[in-house]
Amino acid sequence: MQKNDWHGVPCQFFFVYKGFWDDWDWGSVMHKISARQCTLNGAVRFDGIGVHSASPVTLRIEPAAANSGFQIARIMDDGRIVGPVEVKFPRVSRTTLCTTIDLGESVSVATIEHVISALSGLGVDNALITLNGEECPIMDGSSAPFVEEILKLGLQVQPAMRKYIKILRTVTVRNNDSFAALEPYNGRSLDLEIDFDNEIIGRQRMIFEWTPRRYVEDVSAARTFGFMKDAHVLRQAGYALGSSMENSIALEDDRILNPGELRYQDEFVRHKLLDAIGDLALGGLPFYGRFRSYKGGHALNALVLTSLFANEANYEIVSADKLPVAFDALDDLPEELEVTPYLRSVG
Ligand SMILES: [Zn+2]
Repeated sequence: MQKNDWHGVPCQFFFVYKGFWDDWDWGSVMHKISARQCTLNGAVRFDGIGVHSASPVTLRIEPAAANSGFQIARIMDDGRIVGPVEVKFPRVSRTTLCTTIDLGESVSVATIEHVISALSGLGVDNALITLNGEECPIMDGSSAPFVEEILKLGLQVQPAMRKYIKILRTVTVRNNDSFAALEPYNGRSLDLEIDFDNEIIGRQRMIFEWTPRRYVEDVSAARTFGFMKDAHVLRQAGYALGSSMENSIALEDDRILNPGELRYQDEFVRHKLLDAIGDLALGGLPFYGRFRSYKGGHALNALVLTSLFANEANYEIVSADKLPVAFDALDDLPEELEVTPYLRSVG
């Protein structure tokens, strides 16, 4: 793995995240290093197929400058590059079964939510995604394959302070009996409930206080799921052509067709949470507040962002050093994740 060098000496000789953090008296530090923006410590590549298109695709994630957020570009068959554009909610062109981003020039990229969820869930602020197809690879149907490679690579802290969208007023959007809401809260929390007329899924609720470590352990491995009774209709409409038991939990009536156990006993609601984390990152910055949803999905998630940003009184952009000191979620990282500081912090 290629590390950034400092006068020829790899950064990890100065600073390995865990030991440094343990010795540091965070209570007295107003400007946490962990409150700075992060990008990847190098580039990483994924090969797979699109779950809807079934087309082979290669996706690459690489580091990006501070304050650039998540950007996405597509390499066309003729070698032309469209983008990069910011991965933000005004560019959401479709939310049917997945979230699709419009890159302009009549070019789009579908199923972005799992890779964006991995980046946002791990606390990455800036990254450039490039792919050579119309849809991100589905991998195993969760965000774990993305997370695992990013963990191997490590993160690079950047000089710029991390910023959040602080929710000031509750915004709720509804569709029949389902809803999604963003509301003021001292922390980053998601409270999500699903209710399926199905014995295996039924009613499941998860309250998730975000930290990167909890994202990796409690959310990232949850796979997408689908019902066999819908599969035929979807395929006729050109969806789910690449779906299989390799990348989805397949349900037929009240049984699971996949061999083996579920990865979590309530894997279904955890996957919806994984999706919501990816969809909410389309705000352009991580939110500081609480997301609540009942029987929601990509469409309501996109709509609640649109409603939030429709009125400037609903939110403010705050930098991480202005958040309550008690908000220590930024420091709760997976054990295996190495974070390399920007150079000034080692001097
Ligand atoms: Zn999903």
